[in-house]
Amino acid sequence: MQCIFPRDLNIVSLLLPNSKTDHLPKLLLIPTPIGNLDDVSPRVREALANADVLLAEDTRHTGKLLSLLGLKNKMVSYHKFNEHRQLEHFIDLIQEHNLVGLVSDAGTPGISDPGFLLVKHCVENEIEVECLPGPTAFVPALVVSGLPCDRFCFEGFLPVKKGRKKRLESLKEEKRTMVFYESPYRIGKCLEEFAGYFGSDRQASVSRELSKKFEETRRADLKTLAEHFSGSKNKGEFVVVVEGKKEDQDK
Ligand code: SAM
Repeated sequence: MQCIFPRDLNIVSLLLPNSKTDHLPKLLLIPTPIGNLDDVSPRVREALANADVLLAEDTRHTGKLLSLLGLKNKMVSYHKFNEHRQLEHFIDLIQEHNLVGLVSDAGTPGISDPGFLLVKHCVENEIEVECLPGPTAFVPALVVSGLPCDRFCFEGFLPVKKGRKKRLESLKEEKRTMVFYESPYRIGKCLEEFAGYFGSDRQASVSRELSKKFEETRRADLKTLAEHFSGSKNKGEFVVVVEGKKEDQDK
């Protein structure tokens, strides 16, 4: 069993203690802050510094983060508009290098962000894949919601038009706590819709601006939350956590 004592923390690096240099090349998923630069861990900083190439959702955005950290990397664009078309190119790129990092604009790549397709193909091509633990918006929102977090389902962004009703219909019977991502422009309407599908008195929690100066979490029934967030003046980024259907509501 591996044990890391506090005095060892300064040697936690890409090579120690999780050394797998014999398995290179490797795709390393690197989580970046969802709003607070202090959430860059020493391991994340070191991974960014050591990556031979960084696949970045938005190279300008990641460039700013790198410059705040005093780093400079070779970057290649990797986003939802080229991930299918250039998949073979990305696989070749990883195979040609020792360590290729993947970053999205915020949080963990692959979580409502590009990443899945590349990971799937790396796995199929027997390329090692690792993900550093780090920021992601749904975990803090879920654990502060006060709703059960032993079992939950992550729904991310619901389809905006096609397929939305069908998805919401299927979630009516969901007993686990449900977690959604939503934009500030649609949050009010979305909560209103949830109240219609899941019931006005279903408990929920809305977290905004997690890890930022104006972080806020509101917990109430869906009707109350929908009323609070109605209108168009909502700012920031939102995670909505909704209580699952209670067992006794089956009867
Ligand atoms: N990859 C990210 C993650 O690991 O959470 C998610 C990226 S997704 C494109 C962006 C959505 O995540 C936002 O619309 C919002 O729903 C949620 N989000 C990201 N940062 C947030 C924050 N600081 N506070 C609340 N929600 C956030």
